[in-house]
Amino acid sequence: MTEQQTTLKPLHPTLYELAEDGHSLDFFFVQCGACGAVSFPANVPGCTHCGDPLVDAQKLSRPGGGELLEYVTLHVPLVPGMAAPSIAGDIRIADGIVEEGVIWANDETSLRPGMTLRAVAEVREAQGVYACRFVPADAKVTP
Ligand SMILES: [Zn+2]
Repeated sequence: MTEQQTTLKPLHPTLYELAEDGHSLDFFFVQCGACGAVSFPANVPGCTHCGDPLVDAQKLSRPGGGELLEYVTLHVPLVPGMAAPSIAGDIRIADGIVEEGVIWANDETSLRPGMTLRAVAEVREAQGVYACRFVPADAKVTP
């Protein structure tokens, strides 16, 4: 990890943090004491599976990533600062939990439904933050 990265803050600190390798992201989950399932993010008001209020529930940090379900190329930015075109996908990050994410790939030809993605940090030095991006798990990523 470089000195510069340690000063960066997560864009969404309740969702993820930089992993020990300084590039991957760990996601924050919470494990329900009633049904045992995990919910995301860790600060959800109740278990997304059984509705338990999650009082004193165990918080978990797990390597971010999951299974790519479907994806689409966006030709206009959805939010300010988002590059276009970019690829947005639905990713199953845990059993029963599907989140939308931005996938770092040149085009859709390197993607297929069912492939495994992992979460990495997209550093935005000007803002002093890093955002979450997904890359194919077997891809060699150059920051
Ligand atoms: Zn539950």
